[in-house]
Amino acid sequence: MRSEVGLVMTEQCPVGCRHCLASHAMEAPDLPPLETHLSWIAKVSEVERCKSISITGGEPFLYFQRLEQVVECCRARGLGATVITSAHWATSGEIATDKLKQLSQAGLDGITVSTDDYHQECISLANVSNVVCAAKENGVSPRIAVTYLPRGRSAEQVIGDLRDRLGQHTLEGVQIEAGGIVKLGRAHELEFPGPRKKAQPKLVCNALGPSIRPSGTVESCCRAPLPGTSPLVIGDLNTEGFQPIYQRFLDHAIIPFIQTWGLIEMLGRLVDEKLASGLESYHDVTEEEICELCHAILSSPARVSFFAELFHDPEVRRRLGILTFVLYGDPALLGETGEDKHA
Ligand code: SF4
Ligand code: SF4
Repeated sequence: MRSEVGLVMTEQCPVGCRHCLASHAMEAPDLPPLETHLSWIAKVSEVERCKSISITGGEPFLYFQRLEQVVECCRARGLGATVITSAHWATSGEIATDKLKQLSQAGLDGITVSTDDYHQECISLANVSNVVCAAKENGVSPRIAVTYLPRGRSAEQVIGDLRDRLGQHTLEGVQIEAGGIVKLGRAHELEFPGPRKKAQPKLVCNALGPSIRPSGTVESCCRAPLPGTSPLVIGDLNTEGFQPIYQRFLDHAIIPFIQTWGLIEMLGRLVDEKLASGLESYHDVTEEEICELCHAILSSPARVSFFAELFHDPEVRRRLGILTFVLYGDPALLGETGEDKHA
């Protein structure tokens, strides 16, 4: 997570899925100029710990030539490159092979195809199969990302169904990852299954990596665009290098709480501190409301300051360090208290 940087190449997408949490559509602004993309990649490559760029959208394949140029630039700068697509363009094996061959020659390492019930309302599963097979033929590592409705069919069932439909041969060597749908963008209109009696989830978020938006702002959240005032907006590549932005990401005082305690424990702490005014409706918050709760907590400067101070409490810091190591294998916060760091 800490060595990969997201690049939202375009916010345009022709598919219009009902569960799109960023409500992507073709009306989004055009691409930034090529030189801008190339200079952002050059800035990322100056940071030693950043090893690869994950190219996302919208739909990056809408601008195939630009995608190729971005991948080539990553390789020229010593960075790996992966791309995420819906495969809407892969309507035949020949088309998929042609594009994957070109991207492989440009230096693409991996491709993730998003598919699930909502994508499949618009895109045939045959397209997914075309991309996966073409990727394997051309030495590009294929993955599949599926989503599921919280309290609906489980992640295991969704993956099992996909395995049955695509077949063992197609899926050999393909990693499949599943993520719960959250109530953002068009997904707000979906019908989520009713509550089930069980322990409330902690609402821990692991979607916190630096992500470059088409405007050049960098956010430490890989899902939807954030309000400009969010503390998770960590810089602007139009006015500074990537090194100070990345350092802000590494030193961020709020991210470790979201990544380890989770939003429910954060909310509980705010209730104890009498800082939860306006958050009453989140008392019975559900899994799909994680981002709404996150935005609600972070919209208050007093709450942000509270966690920023708490981050420097040596005991809290120690616990965050252990959890970050256990959950993510990241030792960055171990053995260093807020006092050490700011001494
Ligand atoms: S979920 Fe993906 S494919 Fe569907 S509309 Fe959003 S960006 Fe496009
Ligand atoms: S919980 Fe917060 S950090 Fe995580 S994806 Fe949602 S808005 Fe972004």
